[in-house]
Amino acid sequence: MNLYTTILGSGAALPTGARRCSAQVLNINGFKLLIDCAEGTQDRIRYNHLKLQSIGTIIISHLHGDHFFGLPGLLSTMHLCGRTEPVTIAAPTGAREVIETTFRLTGNHIEYPILWTEMDFDDGEQRVFDNERCSVDAFRILHTVPTYGFRITEKPRGDHSPRVYAYCCDTAYSEAIIPHVHSADLLCLECTFANELGELAEQRQHLTAGQAGRLARLAGVRQLLLSHISARYREPEILLQQASEEFANCLLAADGMRVEITRSPTPPPSQHSGDEQE
Ligand SMILES: [Zn+2]
Ligand SMILES: [Zn+2]
Repeated sequence: MNLYTTILGSGAALPTGARRCSAQVLNINGFKLLIDCAEGTQDRIRYNHLKLQSIGTIIISHLHGDHFFGLPGLLSTMHLCGRTEPVTIAAPTGAREVIETTFRLTGNHIEYPILWTEMDFDDGEQRVFDNERCSVDAFRILHTVPTYGFRITEKPRGDHSPRVYAYCCDTAYSEAIIPHVHSADLLCLECTFANELGELAEQRQHLTAGQAGRLARLAGVRQLLLSHISARYREPEILLQQASEEFANCLLAADGMRVEITRSPTPPPSQHSGDEQE
């Protein structure tokens, strides 16, 4: 059974030619889940040969622009391309108001239904999506605005034991996330700064590379994917090196990279998703 994520954007707040802002598409045996939707996500979906209308479920971690500003454009384009199927969105409270206000004030409208789950809780976990392919549980993480991490669990098939993908962007260092991501097969953590900028990371409620590695080690995950890389790092290998000092099995996200989530020995990531088999 296929389980892999295609990185559409691996950069932090400022998009560059090398790294766009946060978005990725998780493919669970053909079912597509869009995780975050920065400005330009619809363009990156096409660039990576993913079919726009095959995405029907979107989960948004928080409403900072580098995770959310692509959503009105994406939803509008889906309408212009003739969509009639519903889109399911789980996002922090406020997302629905932003989208509905944007469409109302700009005179745009969409014909297909949007099924909203708005997240507004501080403690524990809530299941925000569930279908025959996967479940998505959300939990609060520590950032400057209400932000949620996700644990996505594939549904078991036969004797196949379910794999888990966890995603936490953006977050400050907090060991409170450990029980939520414990033993994940792949954990995607933000890694905005190198260790030397620990004070800035604390101020802006982001992680350093070393902190990301430490969290992965304490959580006992199988593999760590470092994303949300600050534009200041033209040669970001330093981040990989610093995270690796805490946790050996980590890799640095790059735009267009496809990362398989598997329990067998780690395959090398591919640099481009290639043509999708629909
Ligand atoms: Zn961000
Ligand atoms: Zn943020």
